[in-house]
Amino acid sequence: MNTKITKLIQHLTRLPGIGPRQATRLALAMADWDNDELREFGDAVSNIKNGPLFCGQCFNFADGELCSICSSSKRDRTRIAVVEKITDLRSMEKTGAYDGVYHVLGGVLQPGNKEKIKTEELFQRVASLPNPSLAEIIIATNPNTYGETTALYIREKLAPLGIRITRLAQGLSTGSSIEYSDETTLAHALKHRR
Ligand SMILES: [Zn+2]
Repeated sequence: MNTKITKLIQHLTRLPGIGPRQATRLALAMADWDNDELREFGDAVSNIKNGPLFCGQCFNFADGELCSICSSSKRDRTRIAVVEKITDLRSMEKTGAYDGVYHVLGGVLQPGNKEKIKTEELFQRVASLPNPSLAEIIIATNPNTYGETTALYIREKLAPLGIRITRLAQGLSTGSSIEYSDETTLAHALKHRR
């Protein structure tokens, strides 16, 4: 194997879900691209951290201070869906059944997890809502052990604010995930939240 291709394969295997065999396929496909395509790809990678990357309010991807959802006048700001990852937000957006806003935690609470998830930011955001009693927090963490633990923690912390808190779990079987649920199931789980 060529050393340049080997190096590319090593980089690609660092990505989630990409094993050596897939990385090799991807690298070989890229070897077929022309120079312009490769340069664009390289630029996209090297520019990823130039300028804002995340929304200052919900931690979705953003080009400016706020993401397109937080800055849209069509979204209902009194409803906040709390999701684990941006990919979960994308799955919920695909249903077309949700017109509220989001809060991306960036993970779940789990023992030994050193990465800080955005719970404090959520609590501050909710506390500063103009009228918390009219708002709803939809906890859309995954229906597994850590997702449930995180949901419980958020619920307990927000309870004193007297805010309506619902859980998106109806219809989603235990151990399944928001990201890989089909749109109909997810729209149903959203409609029948409680
Ligand atoms: Zn946002």
